[in-house]
Amino acid sequence: MRSLLLVAVLAACFAPDSSAAPDAKATPTPAKPKVSITFAEAQALFPMVKKACADIECLITEAYRADPKAQTLALALYRDSGNVAGVGPEELMDGGYRGKIQLVPELPIHNYRTHLQWVSDAMRATDAFFARLFDKHPAPAYRWRDVQFRFVRSVGKRTPSAYALKWMVAYNVEGTLLTSAAGVFETIFHELFHTNDHERGDWSAKHLQKDYDAIVAKCGTKMTCLRPFAPNTTIVLATGTYYAFQQNNGNGVHEYAAELAVRYWREQNEMLTKGKLSAPAFKCGPPENARSWKAFVDEFFAGRDLTPAC
Ligand SMILES: [Zn+2]
Repeated sequence: MRSLLLVAVLAACFAPDSSAAPDAKATPTPAKPKVSITFAEAQALFPMVKKACADIECLITEAYRADPKAQTLALALYRDSGNVAGVGPEELMDGGYRGKIQLVPELPIHNYRTHLQWVSDAMRATDAFFARLFDKHPAPAYRWRDVQFRFVRSVGKRTPSAYALKWMVAYNVEGTLLTSAAGVFETIFHELFHTNDHERGDWSAKHLQKDYDAIVAKCGTKMTCLRPFAPNTTIVLATGTYYAFQQNNGNGVHEYAAELAVRYWREQNEMLTKGKLSAPAFKCGPPENARSWKAFVDEFFAGRDLTPAC
């Protein structure tokens, strides 16, 4: 687990510029109807399936036929929580500070099967976390199921580890952050926030931008100055700064907010499992932290915060 240790990594994820976000005047949706991945969406994840299938389980069964263990994992992932693990398209992406990156489809079978296991474990753990945190409380207006996973492999590079589009997470089997169960959990939790943020009409840019920009204006990329404001410990080796404050990475406030989500998980999980925090609560840092935290927790997690008052 990376908590409390400064973990040097090359890059976390990449949230594409959400200029296509919904109308800026849209109000937050308080609750979501039951949604699921459509057959057409699932078909796009399995271009290698030539058999005429009539349902998603058939697509999964056919795609994973070469690796029965992976097939069992992929079917269980779908049956448990509606998540479908397939492949992404070949693409040449503009990775901002990372440069151009070629991504190719890579189904998580054989030598890559461990990644499917980690994703399955991460989704199960996320489900269990929310079930426990909101036990006897109304569920938050937040989605963590029915997600499309597009497995890809970067050619000649190991970034980005993952990126999010609408209810879809692209997962790079060569990603630097995706080399352990803990790294995969944290990365997926971060990515799922991006999809929820985008669905709320780019909430983070509308509500956290002012404080975020003021922090960047004050600190630039200096670690010592940024440290009190950084929600998570992930840093970018290439530039030597916190991932939440890395520039030329889309709108950095998206990353700051997604790292807030990871901090939320870490702190609530510690309260649930140990009854105390192993480090001071984020909200007890500078006033910017307290403002961001309250707005963020109220918007996405129904105001539920088990950490004690400062
Ligand atoms: Zn991100």
